[in-house]
Amino acid sequence: MLGASLFPGGGRADGDGKETVTEDAAAKGNAAASVLARSVENWGDDDARSVIPMEASATGYPPRTMTLSVRVVGVGDAFTARYYNACLLVESADTRLLIDAPPALARALRDLGDRGGPVIGLDDVDHVLITHLHGDHMGGLEQFLFWRRFVTGRRATLHAIPEVLAGLWDARLRGGMEVLMDADGARHPLTLADYAEVLPMPAAGEEFRVGALTLAWRPTVHHIPTSALRIRAGAATFGYSADTAFDPSLIAWLASADLLLHETNHGTHTPLDRLVGLDDSVRERMKLIHYPDDHDVAGSPIRCACEGDRYDL
Ligand SMILES: [Zn+2]
Repeated sequence: MLGASLFPGGGRADGDGKETVTEDAAAKGNAAASVLARSVENWGDDDARSVIPMEASATGYPPRTMTLSVRVVGVGDAFTARYYNACLLVESADTRLLIDAPPALARALRDLGDRGGPVIGLDDVDHVLITHLHGDHMGGLEQFLFWRRFVTGRRATLHAIPEVLAGLWDARLRGGMEVLMDADGARHPLTLADYAEVLPMPAAGEEFRVGALTLAWRPTVHHIPTSALRIRAGAATFGYSADTAFDPSLIAWLASADLLLHETNHGTHTPLDRLVGLDDSVRERMKLIHYPDDHDVAGSPIRCACEGDRYDL
């Protein structure tokens, strides 16, 4: 049987004793080997994936917030050597939504520690929304989905616009996740729907619900299809630019938010001076994210979101 350290909430997908991982592997914390071994026992076992109710916290996460809260998991750009890539955790009532899933996701969540709130892990996220297909925004999704299907069996929901969902599987994840082979050579085909409940976002501007949250998205000016977001709960609204060139119409769409996280960076992104030129009324509710490593956080003319920050709106 596996040690509790690998399955922190006792959330094992197989409750019937079909364990194939040795004590030795568990003792070494060899999660990758465990995933592979467990996969043999769990093909198509949908019942196994529903043994843990979504409202339960596998890692003992305390009662969830009743406000709209935003925790900053990562603030960096695609090239950062200082930060985690931009990533946010939005919570309200019994809903916890991760915005983007960057590489090293488990470590990024762990490194939040208790800064700004309780410690969380891969099993404490109910819903994931991917803004676009660049690797710094979705490179941790394979880790998340493998963990949830083969290690703890906790099914999550996955949200994105249809173009992103299609590319997510066909251009990004399929190579490593579509056909998995057992040690005996048996091959098992899987689809994205086998890993998560896949929920395409509706048309731009149309509101939709993710648990206690009400969302709407809007296309940004970026290399590939990308979704900016407005998220509200009760009277509170949070706005997120995602990756974008400077776009006054996007800022106007986001400007009603109580908190607006806006990207800034070099190249085709939003130049800092364009944001500095905005009205005070917008700038005072704005924080920067996705900024380059050389950005002067302490001396920034617009306040920066920092990893570990928590904003309760
Ligand atoms: Zn991007």
